[in-house]
Amino acid sequence: MSFRARHLLGIEHLTQEDIGSLLDLSDSYVALNRRDMKHSDALAGLTQINMFFEASTRTQASFELAGKRLGADVMNMGLQASSIKKGETLIDTAMTLNAMHPDLLVVRHPHSGAVNLLAEKVNCAVLNAGDGRHEHPTQALLDALTIRRAKGRLHRLRIAICGDIAHSRVARSNILLLGKMENRVRLIGPPTLMPAGIADWGVEAFDDMAEGLQDVDVVMMLRLQKERMDGAFIPSEREYYHRFGLDADKLRNAAEDAIVMHPGPMNRGVEIDGTLADDINRSVIQDQVEMGVAVRMAAMDLLARNLRAARQDEGVMV
Ligand code: ASP
Repeated sequence: MSFRARHLLGIEHLTQEDIGSLLDLSDSYVALNRRDMKHSDALAGLTQINMFFEASTRTQASFELAGKRLGADVMNMGLQASSIKKGETLIDTAMTLNAMHPDLLVVRHPHSGAVNLLAEKVNCAVLNAGDGRHEHPTQALLDALTIRRAKGRLHRLRIAICGDIAHSRVARSNILLLGKMENRVRLIGPPTLMPAGIADWGVEAFDDMAEGLQDVDVVMMLRLQKERMDGAFIPSEREYYHRFGLDADKLRNAAEDAIVMHPGPMNRGVEIDGTLADDINRSVIQDQVEMGVAVRMAAMDLLARNLRAARQDEGVMV
């Protein structure tokens, strides 16, 4: 296994080999998850704490299920409701949890960089479950696994990422991962939703769906992240759907066997047509959810192996 890191904070520092190892192990967890007996003891005896400082449904459920299937003791903390309201700082919260000896900390936070900061302060493995508009590494890995299984490869594909790129950690992690695997990435969206400095990202940018979708193999739609917008970025949702919402008509520009993806939660009728999202011949959105559990199992399994090895080196009992 090439992946030797202590934490999974982003795609930025992963190599092609790391990504390959994570996806290969994920494949074996997909097989396990399809059996009646879904248990393994890869995390037996370890404690996993899910700290979500920002609302989440699928990511938190996915990490919880992944930990339970691997035999960890899993605890969920919805931190919007408790200590944060009392004014405790992120670091205080982390140090309090650290004193409880967790082995894996899964953290989501509305501020970019908050998870990296926390990882410096605790002595367990930290997984970034999404920090602000920075990174969401397990989402990019589950998207990569979905693509690799649907297309039979994860290189030399034409992939369009469409919509609210500027506010999206999903887009950022995917651009990094798909670039490392030598794919051609196109970004499509209104200029107001494109991040600054896009010229340095090694991607092509379009503000017209028909043009940008031409012959692509994968169409990845993004949610309009209204919670990260502090002004009017689009004239109206109706207008946005007309120009940038994916429907069967616009999809005709893509390759005949192009797949449609969305990280969820979806705004049906805003960035994607509901019927197309449910079309099992084109949409792999449900597959993405399935792959999510397997990828999180693989990531936590590998981090736990690295953690045990590090503790053994340091002479700590495990
Ligand atoms: N669930 C993804 C995230 O947490 C995408 C989204 O919220 O639009 O970033």
